[in-house]
Amino acid sequence: MFDITKRPIVIAGPCALESEEQADKICSHVSEYFATAFRAGVYKGQNRPIVNGKPCYWGMGDEGLDVLYRLKKKYNIPVVTEIQSEDQLAKAIGSELDILQIGARHMQNFPLIRSIAKKWNKPVILKRGLGSTIDEWMGVYEHLASNGNKNIMLCERGIVSFERANDIRWRLDVLAIPQIKSDYPDRIVLADVSHGCGRREFAIPMARAAIAAGADGVIVEVHSNPEESKTDGRQTIDLATYEKLVCAVAQMYTFIR
Ligand code: PEP
Ligand code: MN
Repeated sequence: MFDITKRPIVIAGPCALESEEQADKICSHVSEYFATAFRAGVYKGQNRPIVNGKPCYWGMGDEGLDVLYRLKKKYNIPVVTEIQSEDQLAKAIGSELDILQIGARHMQNFPLIRSIAKKWNKPVILKRGLGSTIDEWMGVYEHLASNGNKNIMLCERGIVSFERANDIRWRLDVLAIPQIKSDYPDRIVLADVSHGCGRREFAIPMARAAIAAGADGVIVEVHSNPEESKTDGRQTIDLATYEKLVCAVAQMYTFIR
């Protein structure tokens, strides 16, 4: 599905699908500007039920899969979402979803991983666990590949670190990229420059760094109005910044290959 010799992979879209109107605005923009696939979380996990007195947003749920389907048809772009349970997997299989995302917190949910390996043969994004070693991560890759799935994209998304200055949440492990490429040159590696930074100001420099380190592409959270995003607003870039990020990624990709 992805010919990595031709151009970098750019998977872009909001953290969460909030409404069809919101997702349409973002999808129309990113699909016009180079995105390989449109991402939007329909089933969200949340660290806390309530933050600053407000209940956290859990996503649109099943209805979101229908919205993704309509956007896929309208803009002719593959669509990605995360699933976290067996019943969500069944719904994804019954939908027109193109790419399944396994979130960082589920990287070692082995019953779920084994079900995905058995039942899902389309592309998968396997995020690295927040506190997982590269070796543990590659072990999960092997589970997923054990049933013949050749379309597994590894995604470095930042790991737990002691550094918390500038509201950094996780720390993009750029070094993981050449480490994986040196041991497994054929594996596709992406960098999530939103979760891996926690701050939108760092998305472009980290995208450049990831591509320079050998990544095949990036995942980035994009919103038409990041300040109003229901989830992960602080790390989400706006549409104009997205265009700049795409240029930075394309330039760096051309430069190093
Ligand atoms: C996401 O991509 O929106 C997400 C929740 O990612 P992660 O699993 O890396 O936290
Ligand atoms: Mn997010």
